[in-house]
This record gives sequence, C-alpha cells and structure tokens, in this order.
Amino acid sequence: MGQLENTLVATATQVAVTLQGADFIDDNQVNVRFRDPDDVVNAFLQGQRFFIRVIDQREGLVIETSEPYQVDISPQARNVNAGYETLPLRDTAIMMRVYTLPLEGYPLALQVGVSLAEVNATQALIFWMIASALLLTVLLGAGSGLFLASRALIPIHAITRIARQIGERDLTQRITLNRVDDELGQLALTFNTMLDRIERAFQHQQRFTADAAHELRTPLSIMHIGVEVILSQERTPAEYRAALDSIQEEVRRLTALTVGLLTLARADSHRLTLHRDLVDFSMLIRTVIDQIAPIAEHKNIDIQRDILPEVRLEADEERMIQLALNLIENAVKYTPEGGLITVTLTQTSGQVRLTVADTGTGIPPEHLPHIFDRFYRMDRSRSRDNGGFGLGLAIAQHIVQLHGGEITVVSQVGVGTQFGVTLPTS
Ligand code: ADP
Repeated sequence: MGQLENTLVATATQVAVTLQGADFIDDNQVNVRFRDPDDVVNAFLQGQRFFIRVIDQREGLVIETSEPYQVDISPQARNVNAGYETLPLRDTAIMMRVYTLPLEGYPLALQVGVSLAEVNATQALIFWMIASALLLTVLLGAGSGLFLASRALIPIHAITRIARQIGERDLTQRITLNRVDDELGQLALTFNTMLDRIERAFQHQQRFTADAAHELRTPLSIMHIGVEVILSQERTPAEYRAALDSIQEEVRRLTALTVGLLTLARADSHRLTLHRDLVDFSMLIRTVIDQIAPIAEHKNIDIQRDILPEVRLEADEERMIQLALNLIENAVKYTPEGGLITVTLTQTSGQVRLTVADTGTGIPPEHLPHIFDRFYRMDRSRSRDNGGFGLGLAIAQHIVQLHGGEITVVSQVGVGTQFGVTLPTS
C-alpha cells in the first residue's frame, strides 16, 4: 500500500469515528451531516483537492459530501468490503483516488477521494525539491572542492615558481614551506636536497674547469714567452735546440695534464670503462718498482719490497699500473734523499692489500682530508718542479673505487706517509 492509500485509510477511519459516534445517524431516516470534517481532514489532506462523502449503499446515492465534486457512484461504493478505486472527476481529465469504507451496522459507506493530479503535483514538487537539493549539494560540493583544491595547490604553485626561477646560474634558491609532516613538505625537502646536490656538483664542475684552465695556461705561457724570446733575434743552433728542449718539456707536461683531465672527465660521465683480466698483481708491482728504481737510486732512496708472490686478481692491468706508479712515484717525489720506501703486498680471504709507506715529509692533518681532491697540492710552487698537477691521487682513487676497493692514507709530518689500497679479489 502506498503513502496515498495510507492517508486515505487514515482519513476515512478518523471521519468514520466521528460519524458513528453521532446520534443523528438514523437507520431508516438517513440524515448525515458532517460536523466539521475539515478538522480531521485538514491534518491529512491539507491543501489538496479532496472530498469526503457518505453514500447510501441501498439507493446508491450520495447523501452528504464535503465538496460538490461530481464523481460517479461505482459498484465499489455499494460493496460491503472496503476498497480502492481510481475514478474520474466528471467532465475533467482529473482522476481521483477513492477509498470506500462501509460503516459497520449501517447501510452506509464513507468515501474519501483525493485528486491524483495534486498528488502528482506534490510528487513533482517533492521531486523538484529533491532535485534542487541535490543540485545545490553538487554545486556546493563542487564549489568547496574547487576552493579546497585551489588552497591545496598554493604550495605546488610556490614550488613551480621557485623551480622556474632556478636558472643555470642561480642554484642558491630553496623552497620554504613551513610544513614538514605532509607529502608536500616532504616533496619540498626532497627538492631542496636535490638542489643541494646539484649545486655542489655544479660548483665542483666550475672549480674543476677553472683549475684545468689555470693549469693549461702555465705551460702555454712558458712556451709563448720562450718562442718570443728565441725569435727576437738570430740564435745559434745550440740556442734553438735548448729552446726546443724546453718547449718539448712543456708539451710533455701538457700531454700528461690532458691525459689526466680526460681520465677524470670520463670517470665523471661514467665512461671510464675497465678492461678486466686475470692479472698477476705481484708481478705487476715488481715491474712498476723496477721502473721507478733508477729515479729512487738517483735520490739515494731505498725501496724495500715485501711482496707476496702470485697474488692474482681480476683487474684492468693498465689502470693498476697507473695506480701503483702514482703511489710509488709520489713516495719517491716527497721523500728526501737517503729515505726509505716500503712496498708491501699481502692477501687475506677475498682481499688484496697494497701499502706504500715512505719516510718522507709527511702530510699535515689539515691537508689530509683534501689529498684526493682534484688539483690539490700542498705546495703549488714546489710541485711544478716535481712535475705534479695534483690529479694523480684523484685518478688513483677513481681507479680503486671502480674496482670496488678502498684507498686510505695515514701520515705524520716529519715521519712519513703510508697509502693503503684494499681490492677485492673477485
Ligand atoms: P701531484 O701530481 O702533485 O703529486 P697527487 O694527486 O699525486 O698530485 O698528490 C697530491 C698532493 O698530495 C701532492 O701535491 C702532495 O702535496 C701530496 N702527497 C701525495 N703523496 C705524498 C706523499 N707520499 N708524501 C707526502 N705528500 C704527498
């Protein structure tokens, strides 16, 4: 049963109660008057087109009605059982939903009818009310969604703006969001950390380029001046030869510098590839020492070898020679006459250890952390005489790291320096 039928039954029942209690209902002389049906009905059918009427079931006549609506007396009106029907309002297209309630003990039936048009109108009204409420909810939802989204986007706009401002030359800017706990705070933090790294790398690169340019300039200026002087007047063949010798020396230095720069540039761009082979490391170290021995002898420096034989290792032979040469050459360079260099090679499970110790000048503690930096030299003026650019240890460190190893240094001024290289055997 629908809501409408419920209302009709409730209305009919209420009205019937008032009728049945009334003493003016006479069995023979049917004479019914509604006292004030509106009182009851208003509560149910307020504002709707309705009627309440009493029908004499014997005659099939309307004997009292609340409204003068013309609705036919149907067979249901004379039925002894209660029931519903839909009847037209005469001469109109309006349909009425009618409920017939026979009044017990009397040949009478109470009919309550309500216009479906108005019910439909009410339904339509309710429909529109619900639809408008829905629309309003959707609009409000969309509006507040937009508002919240635009608020949420403020920090993203800030990040985008700063990211745009960060140019190639200004890497100092950082995103300042006073939120650490949420995702955007984390994003800003990650972004700033990434900028720190890029800025450091950029500064590193700038320093490297400036240092490289500076190092290239010195031999070029020396050659330039040398050529200018020699060409300023006629020279003897011996003088030309001396000038060319000096130029050749500078060319040698320039070549060494260029090779070093190229190695580091390749390492930076991860293009420094290793050609690994099984290398007899013991033999390799001995050969390198033999190569340097004449220079050491010249300085009256003794090289002690404590080399475990047949230490083999998967490595790039060329690079290993470069590494050993650099460490042993340095030891000779920075050890005064009459000093001692000890080269040891040992092996433990899975590891090879090479140490090069000298009784040289030593490295003061403040220089130690920078010793593997590119172009780092403790004494720039002296190292030119020694032929160094400060690239050797940086390259050595790259070689060791590429082989998955580690290089360390311990030193004491006036006592000596020891470099230690640990390499995995496989
Ligand atoms: P360089 O070509 O100048 O020797 P390196 O990178 O090989 O460049 O070394 C960097 C600096 O470290 C050197 O200039 C020197 O000051 C210091 N150094 C390297 N090895 C030794 C050593 N065995 N004893 C003392 N100082 C050293």
